Amino acid sequence: MTNISRRNFLKISGAAAGAVMLGHFLPPPVAEAARLAGQIDADGDGYIPTLCEMCVWRCGVRAKIAKGKVVKLEGNPDQPHSQGRLCARGQSGLMTTYDPDRVLYPLVRVGQRGEGKFRRASWDEALDIVATKMQEIKDKYGPEAMIFSSTHNLSQVGFENLLNGFGSPNYGTQRSLCFNAMIVANLMTYGMEEPARDYSQLKYLILTGRNLTEAISTSETAAFVDAVARGVKVIYIDPRYTKTAAKSTEWLPIKPGTDLAFHLALLNVIIGEKLYNEKFVEEHTVGFDELAAEVAQYTPEWAAALTEIPADMIRCIAREFSEAAPYALAHNGWRTSNFVNSFQTQRAITILNAITGNWGVTLLPAAGEGGGGLGKPPQPPYPRISALRLDGVPWKYPFVPLKLGVFQQLRDSILEGKPYQARGWFISRQNPVQSLPDRNRTLEALGKMDFIVTVDVILNDTSWFADVVLPEASYLERYDPLLPVGNRIFLRQPVVEPQGEAKSALWIFKQLGERLGLSDFFQYEDEEDYLRQQLMPLGVTLEEIKTHGFIELPKKEGGLEYKWNTPSGKIELKSSTLEGAGYTAIPKWEAPPAAPDGQFHLLTGKVGQHTQMSTQNNQYLHKYQDEPRLWMNAQSAEKLGLKDWDLVEVTSEVGSVKLALQVTQAIRPDSVYMTPGFGKLSKGLTTAYGVGASDSVLHVTYTDPVSGGQALSQTCVTVKKA
Ligand code: SF4
Repeated sequence: MTNISRRNFLKISGAAAGAVMLGHFLPPPVAEAARLAGQIDADGDGYIPTLCEMCVWRCGVRAKIAKGKVVKLEGNPDQPHSQGRLCARGQSGLMTTYDPDRVLYPLVRVGQRGEGKFRRASWDEALDIVATKMQEIKDKYGPEAMIFSSTHNLSQVGFENLLNGFGSPNYGTQRSLCFNAMIVANLMTYGMEEPARDYSQLKYLILTGRNLTEAISTSETAAFVDAVARGVKVIYIDPRYTKTAAKSTEWLPIKPGTDLAFHLALLNVIIGEKLYNEKFVEEHTVGFDELAAEVAQYTPEWAAALTEIPADMIRCIAREFSEAAPYALAHNGWRTSNFVNSFQTQRAITILNAITGNWGVTLLPAAGEGGGGLGKPPQPPYPRISALRLDGVPWKYPFVPLKLGVFQQLRDSILEGKPYQARGWFISRQNPVQSLPDRNRTLEALGKMDFIVTVDVILNDTSWFADVVLPEASYLERYDPLLPVGNRIFLRQPVVEPQGEAKSALWIFKQLGERLGLSDFFQYEDEEDYLRQQLMPLGVTLEEIKTHGFIELPKKEGGLEYKWNTPSGKIELKSSTLEGAGYTAIPKWEAPPAAPDGQFHLLTGKVGQHTQMSTQNNQYLHKYQDEPRLWMNAQSAEKLGLKDWDLVEVTSEVGSVKLALQVTQAIRPDSVYMTPGFGKLSKGLTTAYGVGASDSVLHVTYTDPVSGGQALSQTCVTVKKA
């Protein structure tokens, strides 16, 4: 291992030394620092800016502090990303910090796994146990026998340092349960992960299941609301009448799994009637002729029979969309239809935007979360890893970026013990018991582990099965690494002291790194030292950025460039990468499996009060959310002799749950809907336990072979009175 020691690093940077020396002192208590910064007064009252972490959108927060406690969270009006907006989840974030179910001390299991019996341990004892178990697994079976998994969060960089320094290739994120199809389609077509969307000049919008008013991302949701107020025509495609459907010009209750047919027919009309942007296609794309030849067969009449959207309507949308271009946008959404053909749907959407020439107006290169010129603590190169990844990337899924992975395949490889047997699982702020499909299989996989450690603020369903639980400080109690976006740097800083003995992830990973002989990967004294080392190359002090919670640096001249990072250097309507590997290079119709007689497509999707699996125990959000029930169309309910509020049994080929029925007209008769994240197993969640049922019990594991995305909506269920 190359030894870039801290001492050597300091020798080569005199400027570094001054900043790093500050780190030899523990950060001052939060209240004292805030008083010195003039943010709170002598009584301990005032406001401190920070970043929300109730979802991944990272809005700016002003935390109102009274006598050392957070009493209110408000939007930070100065913050350029969210401009003072804070959704219901963001405003309820203080109840995540003050949740009576917080884990405040390290816990070590004393009962059987899953019994929920733990004893309190000191940090030293808990960390020693974790490091010893991890080292034992490494010595006996190799580092690859330890799996690491985490949500997408700001301290992920520290987590990745731990797993890469440890030498394991096995890293599970939840992205394959969400947006793999969108990212891989963008990469194959544009050579970039996700372009930015600009609603400012928008005149026509197609949303394919992107429920912007309930799956809230404040700034984009606000842009959508403004667009609706301006009279932008919105076509919303979803088997369910959501709140976004209510705000749209047209709601098209499409047959589940046929979104691809709808978009292929739009391409058919736009190309067939020569409504595309010839200049843009000529200058920026390759493969147009092959695309035209392929989509010639996908007429609106053909699509109408599959989608149950009238052919005239499809033709009209195609003409209106191309007429509105370049002020038109077909939104990729994140999960889209959630079938194994979703990758092809995503490709069709990216191509629709390309051939109508919307680039530069409604689609822009994204600033992205890049390095932003930030520094980082020095570290040696990671050890070379030769073991295959258990999630099949890239040997089974060659197009899936390593950082996305295929989480459901990772779980299944644990069960199969192939290509080798995993033995330990380190899970940070993630709840695979709830998020992965087929909960029984996930529990079985946990059962195969010699050792499980989790890091979290509450005893979530996965922590319930852990051997050691390490209590993390909540996002209002800790620093995270800085977030660079374009020319801006955003800061999450503590606004109150951590409760109990909760610690930041930066602290936890460093302590473990030191116990595992990986100190060189964690060359910072404390959280503030880490941030100061990040800021060092910019000549900005931590104190400057703490004042407003962000800093704007001068913009680079020339702005963002268009760069199609594909093999041809152009937008690939026909993907040479896919073709070279023998995959379908131009979007082609792939029929989804039909629901068997008497069964329903099981749909899931967010509500505005909750974020995936993580917020159901928040007492404020719990108070303002209706009881999660199974939506069923009134006509279907009548056929089955079911009434509103009946307790029903819902059964798929992998599991069965019971919950109350909600009879409604807001869903197609062939589909039912459940709100995800409920049906908790952990009795440590006293607010959420016993509420609703979990869709993860029902979901069958179906993986898109190209993007590795889980096809959640492909699961079918029967429903009967319980
Ligand atoms: S969208 Fe809501 S939950 Fe997400 S970061 Fe913003 S305020 Fe927080």
